[in-house]
Amino acid sequence: MTYRKFAVGIDAGSTAAKLVRFDGRSIQMSNVVEARDWPALLKMVKMDERVCTTGYFRKNIRHDVTLTEISAARLGVARFFPDAEVIIDIGGQDTKVIDLRDLTLQMNDKCSAGTGAFLEQAARYLGITVEGLAALAARARKTVDINSTCSVFALSEMISSLEKGAKKEDVAAGLHRAFARRIAELVPEATRIVAIGGVARNASMVRALSDQLGVRLNVPHEPQLVNALGAAARALSPK
Ligand code: ADP
Repeated sequence: MTYRKFAVGIDAGSTAAKLVRFDGRSIQMSNVVEARDWPALLKMVKMDERVCTTGYFRKNIRHDVTLTEISAARLGVARFFPDAEVIIDIGGQDTKVIDLRDLTLQMNDKCSAGTGAFLEQAARYLGITVEGLAALAARARKTVDINSTCSVFALSEMISSLEKGAKKEDVAAGLHRAFARRIAELVPEATRIVAIGGVARNASMVRALSDQLGVRLNVPHEPQLVNALGAAARALSPK
């Protein structure tokens, strides 16, 4: 039997904490918990495993190595799309756009209209999950215009459209388009763009953002785990 080495990457984000156990070829195990539950992930780490942390709370967690989210995203994305030019990482409370050609970063962490929190607020208002909101948008026949760039005003536009009789699915499509428009403002001209982060699991969002940018976005398998995978790859490499 060949000996296989494993390492663990933990991405302790501000909304969700992610763990990946990686053997250099594939993900052996993964887990996603709420941000505050990251100690539960540490309990899954075996004694002899090296741990690399990344994400907002990366320094709060016991680790052998730690990486910025940008380095973790680069390493993780390189495993799927080695020639990527731009990475869009859409999380619960911030969105980062990394231009790999000149290593510049654009970040939105001030305005919730460009983060996962926006669709969460809208879904909560409608009494459904974000997955449910994405599924609604996918069934839309038309897209209701939602023009406000601020999430508070965009949500009140949503409410008044619904009161005027607009269909929920068309309003859901409008919310995704408003969200995509906000993110597109941060994205430079490029053809090979990769979307990662929990919000990249939302196919309606990926479609709306692709339409907005005029480029088909690439999404790796399990986009929410990409930074944890990048961290695990780093933990596997020699010190
Ligand atoms: P962070 O690293 O900032 O903690 P993540 O990259 O883990 O954030 O993404 C969390 C966000 O992803 C949340 O806003 C959540 O609503 C969203 N999300 C996670 N899974 C899905 C899904 N299946 N569909 C739509 N949104 C999702």
